[in-house]
Amino acid sequence: MAFTSVEEYNEEKYRHKFKLDDDGDSADVIFLYRSKRDMLRANVHYLISDTYTGYVHCLGVGCPVCARKKADGSMLIRKQNKFFIPVYNIYKEDPVTQQPGVIEFWERFYNKGFELQFDKEVFNISPNPSECVFKITRKGGFNDQNTRYSFVAVGRNTIATYDQILAKFNAKMPDYYENVVKAYSAAELTEMMQSSAPSSSVSSMPEYIPMPRAGYQSSIPDTFVSAADAVGTTTISDTSDDAILSEFDNNDEDSGDLPNIDAPF
Ligand SMILES: [Zn+2]
Repeated sequence: MAFTSVEEYNEEKYRHKFKLDDDGDSADVIFLYRSKRDMLRANVHYLISDTYTGYVHCLGVGCPVCARKKADGSMLIRKQNKFFIPVYNIYKEDPVTQQPGVIEFWERFYNKGFELQFDKEVFNISPNPSECVFKITRKGGFNDQNTRYSFVAVGRNTIATYDQILAKFNAKMPDYYENVVKAYSAAELTEMMQSSAPSSSVSSMPEYIPMPRAGYQSSIPDTFVSAADAVGTTTISDTSDDAILSEFDNNDEDSGDLPNIDAPF
């Protein structure tokens, strides 16, 4: 393993990923949605393997990633229900061409509260969101569990149409989502997990239990992911729904890495 610069590492890790890091950070974007029907979500796993690190599609029934269990029977690599929101980030510089304007995907945990907010602040303002420029503003500091985002339409889009933006990157939807979520066959997924199998001495170690730290509710279990999935069919209140969202806001950019820290495969 050789050293790489932190800048290069971050550029690769966050390539194609939309992020606002700190309180008050904002970005002017064009949502690459022509109607609500374009809004996609997916069940995904975050895999760390020798050949690929990132999100892969869950295969559902027979998914070899779901089949990996911890000793207690729970999933070793949790299944996450996520939105991947495509935006044209108007002023962000393309790392390759160094020209402003890149297509990025904003990962959000699927959450009814977020969907309703998006309906209200985006689709209800412009049924074809790609015709407007929206300013997304982060309200909440780095790691702040109560972080929220606002969406404000700041003007009619005269920069480029949906089709022109896609053409600029030779992008087709939904194929372009492959940049952030890859589809592998069951055989390929099995192979990838085997390539990263821990040595028996590691797997026989007891699990590391993280210490609680300020601002981090360690009592919230991973199972909140499935609780979030089930919102609407359970008695979870709006308040706890928001709490789930904010917990994930906190960890969203690295959320996939977190469950794997104590559970290498
Ligand atoms: Zn799966």
